[in-house]
Amino acid sequence: MTDCIFCGIINKQSPGELEYEDAAIAAFNDINPKAKVHILIVPKKHISSVTELEESDVELVGRMVMVAKKLAEDKGIADDGYRLIFNAGKHSGQFVDHIHLHLMGGGPLGGMV
Ligand code: 5GP
Ligand code: ZN
Repeated sequence: MTDCIFCGIINKQSPGELEYEDAAIAAFNDINPKAKVHILIVPKKHISSVTELEESDVELVGRMVMVAKKLAEDKGIADDGYRLIFNAGKHSGQFVDHIHLHLMGGGPLGGMV
């Protein structure tokens, strides 16, 4: 996907320091953080949304969660707690059509669901 912002970051065509990278996954700071720590975990493969996931992506999504867990530990926010969010589609406010897992923490996040 040549016109995808997150594919651009992953391919290092756009500025954005990666917080984590392996063969299948990358993570970088949100440009407009809504928490002290706000990192986006993304697969390198372009998948537009949770709604487009297939059975063959199960391991990849599990890996994304494990990367979030590791980053929370690395950032020192694991003990006090954090939030993981996938937005999917219009009503959720999904803005970027490249599936991403929000990792947020570093202070109280307020109640939600
Ligand atoms: P969504 O609402 O799609 O779940 O979240 C998209 C997130 O991507 C937002 O929190 C927004 O601040 C972030 N974002 C949008 N454009 C960029 C960008 O160019 N670079 C980075 N690092 N984050 C971005
Ligand atoms: Zn993409």
